Amino acid sequence: MPEGPEIRRAADRIGKALVGNIISSGQWPYQTLAGRTHLIEGHEVLSVTSRGKAMLIRFSSGWTMYSHNQLYGRWTVHLNTTSYDSTRSLRAEFITDRHAVRLWSATDISLLPTVEENGHSFLQRLGPDVLDEEVSGAFLARHLRSKKLYRKKASTLMLDQSSFAGLGNYLRSEILHAAKVHPDDRPCDLEDSQLDQWGQCIKSITLQAYHHKGITVDLEVAHSSKDRGEPRRMWRHAVFCRNERPCLTCGDLVLRKRYAGRRLDFCQNCQPAQRPS
Ligand SMILES: [Zn+2]
Repeated sequence: MPEGPEIRRAADRIGKALVGNIISSGQWPYQTLAGRTHLIEGHEVLSVTSRGKAMLIRFSSGWTMYSHNQLYGRWTVHLNTTSYDSTRSLRAEFITDRHAVRLWSATDISLLPTVEENGHSFLQRLGPDVLDEEVSGAFLARHLRSKKLYRKKASTLMLDQSSFAGLGNYLRSEILHAAKVHPDDRPCDLEDSQLDQWGQCIKSITLQAYHHKGITVDLEVAHSSKDRGEPRRMWRHAVFCRNERPCLTCGDLVLRKRYAGRRLDFCQNCQPAQRPS
C-alpha cells in the first residue's frame, strides 16, 4: 500500500494539474458521486492535499472530495488531448481546459462540506500527520510520551494511523532502525534521549522518503548499493527488504519478524532490546 510520502507526491502532481482551474466536465460513475456533479463541475479547485493516506480535493463550491486508495486505487494525470483507457474501473474524472485527472478502482470516496471535513470518520481518528509542516520531530517525541502511546510496542505504534498518520510498512522498519529502537520496546522502556531521537527520525525519514521517491537512506548509500547490482526494493532502504543481508551500518545480519502478518526488518545489533524479554 502506498504510504504517506507516496500519497503526498500524488497530491502534488494532481494539484499541479487542478489547483486554480475550473472543472469544466468529467465523469462521476461512483455511487457516492453520482447525481452530485453540480458540487464539482463548473467550480474551481482550491487545493489538493493529503492527510495521512487520504486525499482531499477542495472546490470553490464549499465541498471537498475525500478519497482513500487502500490497496487498489490509482490516480492518473494526462493532458486532456491524450486519450487514455484502463482495465481498471473509472471512479472519477476531472477535466480542465488542459488536463484530465482520473481516479481508478478506489472504493472509499465521499463528498462532504469542507467545513465538516474534520468530522469525517476516518480523518477524525487520525493521529498527527507526520508530513504536516506544523508537526516537528520534537512534537512527535512529546507525542511518544503521551499516555495513549507510552505503553504500546514500537511495532504497533509505527503502523497505527491513530498514533501517527501516514506511516506504513517500509517506513516502520526504516524509522525504527534509524532511531535504534527495537520493535518490541515501548516508549516507556526508553531513555529521554532515545525518545527524542525516535521523534526526530519519524519526521526526518518520512521527509526523506517524500523528497526522494521512497528512498530512506542517504543518496550516496543508495547509489553505492545500486552500483553493487542490488534490486530497487533493496537499495532504497537501510533494512527493509534487506533481510538475510548484512546491515549497512554494522555488518550484522538483518532479521525479519512478522507482526500481525506484516513484515518488519531490523538489526538486533543496531536496535538492541531495552526491555528484558
Ligand atoms: Zn546494524
